[in-house]
Amino acid sequence: MRIDSPMRIDAGGLLVGGTYVPSPNCDPRPACEIELLVIHNISLPPGQFGGDGVWRLFTNTLDAGEHPYYQDIAGLKVSAHFFVRRDGEIIQFVPCLSRAWHAGLSSWQGHARCNDFSIGIELEGGDKIPFADAQYLALDELTKALREVYPIRGIAGHSDIAPQRKTDPGPCFDWMRYLAGLPAEQSPIRRIGENI
Ligand SMILES: [Zn+2]
Repeated sequence: MRIDSPMRIDAGGLLVGGTYVPSPNCDPRPACEIELLVIHNISLPPGQFGGDGVWRLFTNTLDAGEHPYYQDIAGLKVSAHFFVRRDGEIIQFVPCLSRAWHAGLSSWQGHARCNDFSIGIELEGGDKIPFADAQYLALDELTKALREVYPIRGIAGHSDIAPQRKTDPGPCFDWMRYLAGLPAEQSPIRRIGENI
């Protein structure tokens, strides 16, 4: 299948033409609107790209014996709605209408439990590694598609909503570039973090 251009989110909250790998780590959202995007980074093992580690973590199939780092995380029950690989490929793990488990203990503009009202997007990467051009392109297209169907008011980094615990997406994520790539015909949107 091929992702539509422009990208489109269907009524069930799936990216049309995208790869969907269902994660068991999700549940129904409480009655609230989807109004926040949360940007993360992840790579497994850390700093290595292109493997199946993230896919396995989000589907509870990570082999703890495969890498020392995996012993600490193999039992985690986590997920994100989307994972954007270095080449811009987008893999979806949770339908947007369901609650993915990506933010953990978090707060945005005085509202706790960001998983309730947000969509989590993981970029394959690390805090000290520049992201790829293809990832910015894919992220902009995905953001545009999400804003077409959900009343998203802001975008935050994981570090903005959980500043004591999290550092991602990190200093190498170019917020200006990301936000500048969003179309002018949609209403202005900006990074709104707890401490900004
Ligand atoms: Zn994160």
